[in-house]
Amino acid sequence: MNRQLSDNCVDFINDDDISKLIASASEDEVRVREIIAKSMEKQPLTVEETAVLLAADSDELVEELFDAARELKKKVYGNRIVIFAPLYIGNKCINDCTYCAFRRSMRSTVRKTLNDDELFGQVAALEDAGHKRLILVFGEHPDYTPEYIADTVKQVYKVKSGKGEIRRVNINAAPMDSEGFKIVKDSGIGTYQIFQETYHHDTYNVVHPAQTHKGDYLYRLDGLTRAYEAGCDDVGIGALFGLYDWRFEVLGLVTHSWQLFNRFGCGPHTISFPRIRPAHGVELNDEYAVSDRDFKRLVAILRLAVPYTGMILTARETPEIRREVMEFGVSQIDAGTRVELAGYTNKDKQDERKEQFQIGDLRSLDEIMLDLIQHDYMPSFCTSCYRQGRTGEQFMEFAVPGFIQNFCTPNAIFTMAEYLEDYASDETKSAGMVLLQGEIAKLPQDKRIVVESQLKKIVNDGLRDIYM
Ligand code: SAM
Ligand code: SF4
Repeated sequence: MNRQLSDNCVDFINDDDISKLIASASEDEVRVREIIAKSMEKQPLTVEETAVLLAADSDELVEELFDAARELKKKVYGNRIVIFAPLYIGNKCINDCTYCAFRRSMRSTVRKTLNDDELFGQVAALEDAGHKRLILVFGEHPDYTPEYIADTVKQVYKVKSGKGEIRRVNINAAPMDSEGFKIVKDSGIGTYQIFQETYHHDTYNVVHPAQTHKGDYLYRLDGLTRAYEAGCDDVGIGALFGLYDWRFEVLGLVTHSWQLFNRFGCGPHTISFPRIRPAHGVELNDEYAVSDRDFKRLVAILRLAVPYTGMILTARETPEIRREVMEFGVSQIDAGTRVELAGYTNKDKQDERKEQFQIGDLRSLDEIMLDLIQHDYMPSFCTSCYRQGRTGEQFMEFAVPGFIQNFCTPNAIFTMAEYLEDYASDETKSAGMVLLQGEIAKLPQDKRIVVESQLKKIVNDGLRDIYM
């Protein structure tokens, strides 16, 4: 395997510096409020400022952080929530990550890579439920070359079941060399997502054995820099919470975000913050388990630290936690999720020997849509930015005045209307129509006229895939 790093690659995570920042920060009400005020002006926070927020632990200050995160989320994203589903393509893996049921030493895991028919079946099932955006997930294995991943992406785009189609395919797979990233980029992917898992070097080395590919901390840390260099300007970072001190991971994520911003003028498109889940054959160590209270704190603090970065909350969490945490700044969730290989067509009980971990939210897409609508969120399947080439630095939402009003809200309305027409249960449809009318009424008159006329084409004329 080619282990070529990016040009001028450096290890930009200094464990001592981060640990010192955490140890030296103590609760400081005045500073916390100053920093919150900066964040409310939609300015990204420095690593030092984020450390000050992490030290706020009294109930009163934590509530202030929650309130600020809620408000900032409304300012930047409104009530839209983008919906996607993960699709596991293959669970063969040459690595041995201690927390994962796909690790190579797990002999009892049933290994499977979807064949062409199975891939078609899974994608068709997802389209039949109403999905438009997928993230394809791969173990790390010589079978899953960049060419193979690119070919899988192209096949997914070709599947058309009924009125369904997948309009955006994201990837979560092992880091590649530059050539590999170029091949995958050319297949038409949206986001390339790689989680560092833990930014803490010693912990990284313990959970990723040295003789494995993933055991190379710097190659992984540098992965998304290579992706950018290869032309992928839409990348997602993440940490697996529960391996080490959650405060350290938050500062690692913010440092990584700044590193990409300083080098490429654009930070990551998304941040993910999964908590470790029980998994087949995995012994969890609770030394660094993140409590629900701390989980809420970390989500709120990340929102404040990186106001324009999308935040992804997955079905690893229960419906109750998802409902609570979503308010603090989440912009994307998965729905109707199955993490078992070929799980979208398996009506029987899930087989844990084919799953990477157990999920906490097993509700269907329609149940989640109804729940969101009832809580006044506007689910969106919009894929327009990436299809119109609106990615990277010049198209970050803050760079374009009126961006949300001109693009995001109308596109959320159109894609939600498509869902309601084609896939929703009666209950979801009637609740959704009321929400849509309310959203349209909030638009300025000129925009409202355009949106209403386009909406008629969807509802009355059966037109699909209308977007701004
Ligand atoms: N194999 C590729 C890699 O490791 O980069 C693709 C990612 S893996 C299939 C998807 C992600 O699942 C990992 O990056 C890890 O953060 C997460 N994961 C693994 N085991 C988990 C567990 N027990 N609970 C929650 N998330 C887990
Ligand atoms: Fe393999 Fe990824 Fe699981 Fe590690 S997390 S064992 S690399 S699938």
